[in-house]
Amino acid sequence: MSIVVMKFGGTSVADAGRIRAAARRAIQTHRRGHQVVMVVSAMGETTDHLLDLARQISPDPPKRELDQLLATGEQVTISLVAMALEEMGARAISFTAGQIGLVTDDIHTKARIKSIDVRRIREQLDAGRIVIVAGFQGVTESGAVTTLGRGGSNVSLVAIAAALGAEVCENYTDVDGIHTADPRIVPNARKIPRISYDEMLELASLGAAVLQNRAVEFANKYNVPIHVRSSSNTKQGTMIVAETESMERIVVSGAALKDKLARVTLRNVPDQPGVAARIFHTLANAHTVVDDIIQTTDQHKRATVSFTIDLADLLDARKVVAGLCKALGCKAVFEDHLAKVSVVGVGMRTHTGVAERMFSALARARINIQNITTSEIKISCLIDRSQGRRALRLVHDAFDLGRKPKSVKKARKEGSGR
Ligand code: ASP
Ligand code: MG
Repeated sequence: MSIVVMKFGGTSVADAGRIRAAARRAIQTHRRGHQVVMVVSAMGETTDHLLDLARQISPDPPKRELDQLLATGEQVTISLVAMALEEMGARAISFTAGQIGLVTDDIHTKARIKSIDVRRIREQLDAGRIVIVAGFQGVTESGAVTTLGRGGSNVSLVAIAAALGAEVCENYTDVDGIHTADPRIVPNARKIPRISYDEMLELASLGAAVLQNRAVEFANKYNVPIHVRSSSNTKQGTMIVAETESMERIVVSGAALKDKLARVTLRNVPDQPGVAARIFHTLANAHTVVDDIIQTTDQHKRATVSFTIDLADLLDARKVVAGLCKALGCKAVFEDHLAKVSVVGVGMRTHTGVAERMFSALARARINIQNITTSEIKISCLIDRSQGRRALRLVHDAFDLGRKPKSVKKARKEGSGR
């Protein structure tokens, strides 16, 4: 019998009515002949409220205690879901992470899963029960409660599905799938039926916040397909799967906007071995997450190093950079008004003309490109933030993302070089 693992996020279990609806879905899947595991999040904004409560007591609570508190959110949901299932005539049992041996390291508030002992889940499934597991939480070898980072029940979902060898994991949420761009900014954005793990990873790190990267990385590693779909209708959502050859015919799958970026430019940096290492070692030590890095050198043994960061990290970065400038004799410029627009698609590996098409769309609208970064499957342009939303719409249109993908032949004919 095949196993289906279904995850319901906070909005999909926000009240008693939605908990019942989630339970009904699980029962339908069970009736179709699958064994069913449900992974659930805390109801609605419970996790935010718990965090807020903790902050009212202490600005910097001990992380172990924070985890102890946050994990209660999911514990409420599992028992209510089990009650709903039983009330509807199904047989159900709920488990906390500790009860099923979902063991993590001891890095509180962002723990990583080390192992899952699925024996208890299997026993219950074989006894005909629907099993409900608390997402987002784990337990250390010594028994302390941990959490996996915000949105971490997606990681729980994929890890449990992988450990059980599930056929598919279904991610029920408040959107009906992954879109070609954020529909709140781009009205003609379309739902993508299938997307590869790599494309999803790029899109997520470029600002499309549907699933966190750790969940997708896990799914990629264990080759578990994820079906992202709406909990309020029965339409097919987006399948996130391993790359197939046919995916390449779609040159660009999606576009994304990362808002609120800042750039730090260091000029007059000594052009010597070890200098870049020193700069980024210092930043890493200060926990500054660096986005794109560009270095250029001139003929006078001097380099310019620039990097982008989240606007929220600018204040911290300023302090670190001031020290570096003193030590290296360089000068820093800070800009706080940037955004990054990107296009992503595995088809870029085999098609040409993608960069040209993107740059032309921005040029026609007189949007200045302040730097360009690429990977094998994405192109990003840094632009002024005030033009970010318009740029996303333009780029989306330039690749006809609002329309259904073309046939293989047509796409090939149009190809002409990145
Ligand atoms: N309840 C947790 C959060 O809000 C985990 C999750 O929803 O995935 O971040
Ligand atoms: Mg939540």
